[in-house]
Amino acid sequence: MPNRAEDVRLIRLLREANVLVNVDGHKLHAPNGVIPVVCPDCDQVDDIDNHIRKLLDESGGRIRPHMLKQHGGGMLISEACPLDREFNIDRYLLKHIGIARNLKDINTIILYVHAPCGAAQLEGLNVVEILYHVVEAKKRVKAMWPTDRISCYIHVDYANEKKRTYFLSREAFERWFHDNNGEQYVKHMNKGNGSSPDHKTEFEPAAPASS
Ligand SMILES: [Zn+2]
Repeated sequence: MPNRAEDVRLIRLLREANVLVNVDGHKLHAPNGVIPVVCPDCDQVDDIDNHIRKLLDESGGRIRPHMLKQHGGGMLISEACPLDREFNIDRYLLKHIGIARNLKDINTIILYVHAPCGAAQLEGLNVVEILYHVVEAKKRVKAMWPTDRISCYIHVDYANEKKRTYFLSREAFERWFHDNNGEQYVKHMNKGNGSSPDHKTEFEPAAPASS
């Protein structure tokens, strides 16, 4: 299942617009490790896992990825993302990010998506919609834990042995989306601004881990 031609075209456009940029691990602030939310795709997970470890190594932080894996990855936390909606997977993942933060004292969260993603293709999502949802997910996580660092990445398999991971700039994406009528690509828009009215305490354990 390769990338659709339209997605390859969109990825090229987003690269040219500096929405998807080369990764610089030195910019990541992750002194105590990261909580990556990733898709478990068995053909990509080794590459994604190695990339996260390399990123941590470059950042100078501890190589300590506390992975949360669900089909679709980081975009699932967007309220409007259609994947596994019936199971409240967004709330499930927020709960488990909260648990991981408290148990492991990690305050850097990585929201990872990839293309081609079979789970996204089953729902008919193009790459712009995937990025839209991961940006919405970032806003939602940031609203819950405002002092945490939250970074978004997309892994692309170009089907010719070439795999690349790009950093997704939220600001650049939102500017591009606004200037290029991004709504035309997104079938499932969030109604509000992406931040949910969730009560913080709902996802936080009552007390920090004692050991
Ligand atoms: Zn996937």
